[in-house]
Amino acid sequence: MQNIYGLTLKELEEYFLSIDEKPFRASQIYDGLYKKRFTSFHQMTNISKKLREKLSEDFSLFKIKLLVKQEGVNVNKYLFELEDGNKIESVLMFHDYGISICVSSQVGCNMSCAFCESGRLKKVRNLMAYEMVEQILLIEDDIQKKITHVVVMGIGEPFDNYDNLLHFIKIINSGKGIDIGSRHITVSTCGLIPEIKKFSCEEGQVNLAISLHAPNNVIRNKIMKINKVYPIEELIETVKEYIKKTNRRVTFEYILLDGINDSEKEAKELASLLQGINCYVNLIPYNETTNINFRRTRKWKILKFYDILKTHKINVTIRKEFGGNVSAACGQLRANN
Ligand code: SAH
Repeated sequence: MQNIYGLTLKELEEYFLSIDEKPFRASQIYDGLYKKRFTSFHQMTNISKKLREKLSEDFSLFKIKLLVKQEGVNVNKYLFELEDGNKIESVLMFHDYGISICVSSQVGCNMSCAFCESGRLKKVRNLMAYEMVEQILLIEDDIQKKITHVVVMGIGEPFDNYDNLLHFIKIINSGKGIDIGSRHITVSTCGLIPEIKKFSCEEGQVNLAISLHAPNNVIRNKIMKINKVYPIEELIETVKEYIKKTNRRVTFEYILLDGINDSEKEAKELASLLQGINCYVNLIPYNETTNINFRRTRKWKILKFYDILKTHKINVTIRKEFGGNVSAACGQLRANN
C-alpha cells in the first residue's frame, strides 16, 4: 500500500481522476493532512464516508516512530525508527531567522568520506519521500511550531536518491501542504556531477550546497572518495555551468580539519579556485567524533583562514555552532544507539 505522505498534490489529483472523482479532492486531502494534521481519513468529514473508506483501503498513513529526542542549546536531535526497523536521525536548530531542520535522505551512506560519522554505516537503502516528509511532520508536532527552513544534510547523499528527493521537495514546497518556500530548501551534495546537471534543469529556486572540503585533488582524494570519480576541476566546471543556467548562487561547504586542509596555503588555493564564481563559502568547524584521525582546527586558525578568503573577496561565513552537550555530528546519535 502506498503511503499518502509520499504523494505530490499532482499525483493525488491524478489518483482522484482515475477513480472518477473531482481532482480538487486532492487539495482537501492535503489540507486535512498538512494544515489540520489529521491522522486518519475518517477525520476528514468534508468528504463522503464512502470515499474515506476507499482512501483507507488505498493508502497507508503510517508514520515513522520517534525513538529518542536529545535537547541541547538551540538544538534538538531526533532518532527515528522506520517501518522496517532501520534508524535515521534529524537535527532541529533554532536560529534568529527561523527554525531549520536537517533531514536524512538515506539509511547509511555509500560515499565513504573519511571524516564523516554517517558514512560508517554503508547504505542500506534509500529513504522514500514519505519518510523524509514525516521527519518534518513529527518534529513540528514535537515543538508545536512551524519549521521554516529545510536542509538535506543529514545522513545520506541526497543525489544518490534523486527521484525520492525531488518528490520530497515538491511535497513540502506545496502551498497547500507544509509550504516550505523553495528558497528555504537546501540540498547538499558531495559532488555527484550528473545529478548536479540534472538538478539545474528542475524548476524552483532550491539552494544547492557542495561539500568541497579541499582546494585540490591531492587533499580531496584523501578525504573524499567521490573525488576519484568526479575530480575537483570537473566539479567546479559543473558548478559554473549550474550557476550560469539557474542564476543561483551556490554554497561551498568547507570543514576545517586540523593539519589537513586548514593552512594559509590552502586558504589561498581555495580563494583562487573560487575566484569569480557567484558563490559563498561556509567554513565548518569540525565536530569531533570517535575517529582519532581528524581534529578540529583551533579558533584562531579558523579566523585566519576566514580572513584570507575575505581578503581575496570571497563571500565567506563561519558556521554557527550548535550542540553544547548534544553530540552534534550527524550519525552520532544513531551510532550511539
Ligand atoms: N552527502 C551530503 C549531505 C550529508 S553531509 C554531502 O556530502 O553534502 C552534510 C555536511 O556535513 C557535509 O558537508 C559533510 O561533509 C558535513 N559533515 C560530515 N561530518 C561532519 C563532522 N563531523 N563535522 C562537521 N561537518 C560534518
